[in-house]
Amino acid sequence: MWRGGTRKLAALGVAPNTLEPTGKQGAHQTARRSEPMSPKRVLIVGGVAGGASCAARLRRLDEQAEIVVFEKGPYPSFANCGLPYYIGDAISDEAKLLVATPELFRDRFNIEVRTEHEVLSINRRAQKIEVKDLGNGSVYQEAYDALVLSPGAVPARPPLPGIDLAGVFTLRTIPDSRAIRAWIRESQSRNAVVVGGGFIGLEMAENLARRGLEVTIVEMFDQVMPPLDREMAEYVYVHLLNNHVSVRLADAVAGFNGSEGRVTAVETRGGARIQADVVILSVGVKPESQLAKDAGLELGPHGGIRVDESMRTSDPCIWAVGDAVEVKDAITSELCLVPLAGPANRQGRIAADALCGRPARFRGVQATAVCGVFGLTVAMTGVSEKRLLQAKDADYAAVYLHPNDHAGYYPGACEMHLKLIFRRSVGRVLGAQAVGEKGVERRIDVISFAIQKGSTVFDLEEAELCYAPQFGMAKDPVNLAGMVAANVVRGDVSLGNWGELPDCGVFLLDVREEEEFGRGAIGAAVNIPLHQLRQRLRELPKDRPIWVNCARGQRSYYAVRILRQHGFDAYNLSGGYSTWEVYCPEGLPSGGVARAEQNSRDRAA
Ligand code: FAD
Repeated sequence: MWRGGTRKLAALGVAPNTLEPTGKQGAHQTARRSEPMSPKRVLIVGGVAGGASCAARLRRLDEQAEIVVFEKGPYPSFANCGLPYYIGDAISDEAKLLVATPELFRDRFNIEVRTEHEVLSINRRAQKIEVKDLGNGSVYQEAYDALVLSPGAVPARPPLPGIDLAGVFTLRTIPDSRAIRAWIRESQSRNAVVVGGGFIGLEMAENLARRGLEVTIVEMFDQVMPPLDREMAEYVYVHLLNNHVSVRLADAVAGFNGSEGRVTAVETRGGARIQADVVILSVGVKPESQLAKDAGLELGPHGGIRVDESMRTSDPCIWAVGDAVEVKDAITSELCLVPLAGPANRQGRIAADALCGRPARFRGVQATAVCGVFGLTVAMTGVSEKRLLQAKDADYAAVYLHPNDHAGYYPGACEMHLKLIFRRSVGRVLGAQAVGEKGVERRIDVISFAIQKGSTVFDLEEAELCYAPQFGMAKDPVNLAGMVAANVVRGDVSLGNWGELPDCGVFLLDVREEEEFGRGAIGAAVNIPLHQLRQRLRELPKDRPIWVNCARGQRSYYAVRILRQHGFDAYNLSGGYSTWEVYCPEGLPSGGVARAEQNSRDRAA
């Protein structure tokens, strides 16, 4: 609990330290003897994900509290996550984006929502906020017993030459999406540039392509989807190229060219000039913490509002939730910003509970997220390998699998690519990433929950998951990932390091069939098909490590078990040649990356 808040907590009807009701308020308290008590007048800044959840939960907990929500935009509780699909016309009725109206808040919850009312400042000493009615320009003050901040995050707009040209957009609100739709229609846009290849960038690329535009993504990192490890992002990159989206990686926008005030092209630092009738900037968001900062509330190292586990700020009468706050990473315990709807909603609920004296605690985030792009699902949870490497954390291992989403004999099975990251020493699950057409988000959700509960790879081995041929496999991909990882933790198999190939002085053994080997191999690998291995052991060296690969990592695992029991120092290359196709630094002649790039070049020619 923050220091110095005893007097204010008592004013809220909350006993310091215990977070229990003080029972000071006579008849008010008697009427709700067994119910927790919230402050009498709660003001909420921001009426969308976190703010709206907090308001509704608070009402369910306390019929008596006066709750007023201030929202500077025209709508409370709208579906910001649906905006890219509205632009792409997958959602064509704008009204569907309105999850709840001010009238619904009033009639169902007895909550007053003031839209187009911007909160300008907070006077903490007087416990008042200053509000501007954007309709008539009047400014007034409102007193609070408790204040909840859920002002969200604002899309970054880097100060580049030409950034203010018409046709250069960011996307946050319904009016933003309406303006983008109108611009595309009225200017008859044909070429779009999406700056940034993260979640919103990819969703926008798909939706602009759906409207018939030629789309180019410019991404300053050397991969799309920066939270993913690079090799996993490669599947997404290939998929974008195969869906006629051009992608410029490792190149940043230098500025925007225009004519008569309208954007015409994007120039990159790498010297490219890309024609553009419309530009979508999706280069990240910044927490809207200025209001909090001006009020002297403590901020975290990333500029977000600092809160404790019950979402309380450094002022005991003020709570904050959502994209504007910094929260603890559940795995690394570092403070971080995770601008996602799930955490914002949960935090809103927790703040309401805490306001009412309930012992609610936010467990932290693990950045579980999913994105769909041209029929491909990309999902992740927990830490990535690159973050562990940055943190110089060496006690981890990663395994790759390429299982089907459901039994191969049932029609429509699709391969997915799954990476599981875990503590090498004890097997605790740290993170997972998956890409595929079907069943991806289900597996990541299971692993996400396993991480939240501190589970190990042995728990994943044993996880009881639903199965019928059209839905999964008797050994679900989650079980398989647990088994493969558990083999490593138990010491039954050691892993070769993809990052060190192909020139690390080991003996490379490929146990695929000759025909598969002929289609492409890693470096100077020697081919001995698995079924011949026992007869040809004398061809293998005993004086140096043998790294074994097959197509997906299963036959090579069998081979490693044979070799180790015959005294060889053998290692498995997890995920096999399928992993190599995305790991290989230059892409392989027969690899998916090279194929997709060639397709893209052919189209351009
Ligand atoms: P918001 O929902 O942004 O609400 C903040 C509100 O506060 C805003 O409406 C703002 O107008 C108002 N406000 C700010 N300052 C003031 C002030 N001074 N006075 C009055 N009102 C104020 N997340 C996912 O998990 N999955 C997705 O698929 C996904 N897709 C997204 C797609 C898009 C295009 C966008 C923009 C976001 C997406 N997100 C997604 C992120 C998700 O929407 C946010 O994490 C979530 O809405 C954050 O909730 P919040 O309450 O913190 O902020």
